[in-house]
Amino acid sequence: MIVYTKRFLNHNLTGHPECRERLSATVDFLEGKGVFDTLQLVEPGQAEAEDILRVHSQSHFENMKGIAESGTRVLGDTYYNPESFETALLAAGAVIDCVNSECKAGFALVRPPGHHATRNSSMGFCIFNNVAVGAAYAKTQGKRKIAILDFDVHHGNGTQDIFYESDILYISLHQWPHYPGTGAAEEVGEERGEGYTVNIPLPGGVTDTGYNLALDEIVYPVLTDYSPDILLVSAGYDAHQNDPLGGLKLSTDTYHRISENVKKLAKKTVFTLEGGYNITALPHCIYASLAGLYSLKPETFDTPQSENSHATGEVENRIQNIRENLSIYWKV
Ligand SMILES: [Zn+2]
Repeated sequence: MIVYTKRFLNHNLTGHPECRERLSATVDFLEGKGVFDTLQLVEPGQAEAEDILRVHSQSHFENMKGIAESGTRVLGDTYYNPESFETALLAAGAVIDCVNSECKAGFALVRPPGHHATRNSSMGFCIFNNVAVGAAYAKTQGKRKIAILDFDVHHGNGTQDIFYESDILYISLHQWPHYPGTGAAEEVGEERGEGYTVNIPLPGGVTDTGYNLALDEIVYPVLTDYSPDILLVSAGYDAHQNDPLGGLKLSTDTYHRISENVKKLAKKTVFTLEGGYNITALPHCIYASLAGLYSLKPETFDTPQSENSHATGEVENRIQNIRENLSIYWKV
């Protein structure tokens, strides 16, 4: 199932990279491919205050409500208009709907994104942390082993912040150093959460080869070891080679491979859209994920970049370090 509503287009600021065309172009493209002939398209409900408050402070919730009501504003890198609060509640609600559904795999095609929103603040184009709201909700529904995989090019500092001391497993592959600066391999969680944060910082220039090495050597073994009841995926597509905000060089092949692999590693899989700012490439990246998730006919959009052996070598070194850090927690 795909959860989407046109109301996701109401949050918008002309000229901003996180613009409504990201989703309108994607939905038009998927419609043209006939995706909705085979996959159910579902309208989301809004998340309730109690859903948001499982992962955000009351003051953050009230702030977001107040800011949106006061008209269009830009604070730092994040913008708000009078529709933003409701749209953000719908985005979080869409992930809850996927978690609630009987479907084994769901895709919440949402805006605004969520993974930079921390317990107490919005940032990085994110208002509420959609994937965290979904994970915390899953816990209330009796899901015991919950994992989040984040392949957005940016580290999901918000998700890490929210679950740093909890046993919800958070795995992130991201360019590093890069915005927002967090996500070093040494950040592994604290207290009850020690070992439940897995950061895989990757150097700029990494192509499919180096990226898949990190997936094969760290991500899939950790997920296999954990065997989650539910896997939520923070699916950001700004690690694509054509993306203006990232320095990784992935092709759509990698997105296809990831969803094909992870759907076998959890009892249920829920994808949530995060970043991805090349309006031409984004619909194809999302289609590649859907094709892997639902065994749709793959398409050819781009050509994988030839291997950057310097970057791959650096990935090999980093994997070695990460494995040493993680081997006391996971079979890697
Ligand atoms: Zn991003």
